[in-house]
Amino acid sequence: MFAELVGQDQAVDVLRRAAAAAAEALAGGRGTGMTHAWLFTGPPGSGRSNAARAFAAALLCDGALSADRGCGHCGACHQVEVGSHPDLTRVRPEGLSYGVRQTRDLVLKAAGAPTLGRWRIVLFEDADRVTEAAANALLKAIEEPPPRTVWLLCAPSPDDMIITIRSRCRVVTLRTPPAEAVARVLTERDGVPLDMALFAARAARGHIGRARRLALDEEVRRRRADVLSIPASLSGVGACVTAAERLVKTSTEEADAATAELNETETAELRKVYGEGSSGKGLNKGLVRGGAGALKELETLQKSRATRIKRDSLDLALLDLVAFYRDVLALQFGAGVELANEDRRREIETMARGSSPEDTLRRTQAIMRCRERLAANVNPQIAVEAMTLALRSPGLA
Ligand SMILES: [Zn+2]
Repeated sequence: MFAELVGQDQAVDVLRRAAAAAAEALAGGRGTGMTHAWLFTGPPGSGRSNAARAFAAALLCDGALSADRGCGHCGACHQVEVGSHPDLTRVRPEGLSYGVRQTRDLVLKAAGAPTLGRWRIVLFEDADRVTEAAANALLKAIEEPPPRTVWLLCAPSPDDMIITIRSRCRVVTLRTPPAEAVARVLTERDGVPLDMALFAARAARGHIGRARRLALDEEVRRRRADVLSIPASLSGVGACVTAAERLVKTSTEEADAATAELNETETAELRKVYGEGSSGKGLNKGLVRGGAGALKELETLQKSRATRIKRDSLDLALLDLVAFYRDVLALQFGAGVELANEDRRREIETMARGSSPEDTLRRTQAIMRCRERLAANVNPQIAVEAMTLALRSPGLA
């Protein structure tokens, strides 16, 4: 399982040692000396939750002591991989934030003794999305952990967690994996041709999931091309408005596709639980009431998640634009670095010649301002339009 982590040798080393020490202490009947709260941080796509999951496998592994914890072959490792291990609870906030009620349920669940005798582990993805009240409930649980409970929290950076939580966690820092390492994974695991793998790895700036989607899905590549064609298209006010519309529409399409796929699976699973067979005869009578309530609750969750995915998707597009202007700036400064958008070198060169580094910095700031406004719930069309207008002409924004 650790082998799946790309370019994270240092973090993997720390985690392997910790898992080995924990296993030896348990076997020796000594006090475990285990750190009960871990915080996995790193930029999006660096594999925070994968690292946490690999660590969970290493702690729960049935395999031999110390040497190859998280072997990937035993029953426990397999259960961790498919998400069915009884001692591993994996939490992912589906909405915009994670509430106090959910957190309290979780804390209760985490307090139980492990079923199979090693550890009870809670893997909390996007832990930075807990509300303040929920963070306090979480803090209490971490302050007085039951002897066999381990919390694995994931967040973009340590600063995303309140300091009282952060100070009780051992922090594991992941880095952005180098493009070559990401490309190698794409060729070896997904059979992507090397050229395409390198292109996707650079364009995704180390985000493995996005690199994979770029490499495998032509539609995703088309959307990216759409976004990157914006800077050169901003000739007049009309063009700016059109570009803003297109950008919002493109990212909405991408988000809708992702949302629809998630919703469909979940709803089908829930219906199965409540007794609607594959024959499609409708909900089992005895369960109808509970089923309808649960479906409604699921719909509410799905709606707030859809909002979040839409926001994330637009943000990703804006980061693509930031990378574009970063390339422009690199050429303006004559830095001999590899461009993230090597495939658009010609446009980038044209823009580097036709503007000053100050213009480029100002444009980058306009994009960052737009991201802030979107995070503050400003209407996307309005925020993006203000941005495209600012991207257009120096001094006229
Ligand atoms: Zn194993």
